[in-house]
Amino acid sequence: MLSVQNTELQDMTVEQLMIPAEKVAHVQRQNPLEHALLVLVKSGYSAVPVLDASFRFQGIISKTMILDHILGIERFEVEKLSAATVKDVMDQDVPTIRKKDHFTKGLKSVINHPFICVVDENDLFDGILTRRVILKQINRYLHEK
Ligand code: AMP
Repeated sequence: MLSVQNTELQDMTVEQLMIPAEKVAHVQRQNPLEHALLVLVKSGYSAVPVLDASFRFQGIISKTMILDHILGIERFEVEKLSAATVKDVMDQDVPTIRKKDHFTKGLKSVINHPFICVVDENDLFDGILTRRVILKQINRYLHEK
């Protein structure tokens, strides 16, 4: 991550604040649901990005989406974890942001989402911007002013 120590909030870009792709846990669209649930439980994250084999952003998948999918009338139908794949369950209708976008766009984006995926013009995945990072910057700004 680039240093943001002396940069004014409005001059910061998403690139300076994002967690880069190589540090982000993700799953692929053709993975079985069981694999996605393992990644989510072991990482402790409630949701992670879904990519294709070429590292293109496809959507996100969460623990709640998986649990909803396997919920039967009276029990969790855990056999569905190996029958279904990530693409059957993931949410494709999620906003994205670009590396060169400004802090203020990032701030607006994380009002309704705990994290936003950063993609390039070909939908290649660059990383994520989290609400935590945005709040940390605002907190630092308010206490240094
Ligand atoms: P945080 O603001 O750090 O609590 O992160 C909010 C959400 O962003 C987490 O619940 C995850 O869904 C996602 N997230 C944060 N860091 C990562 C990461 N390194 N890999 C995958 N997802 C992440």
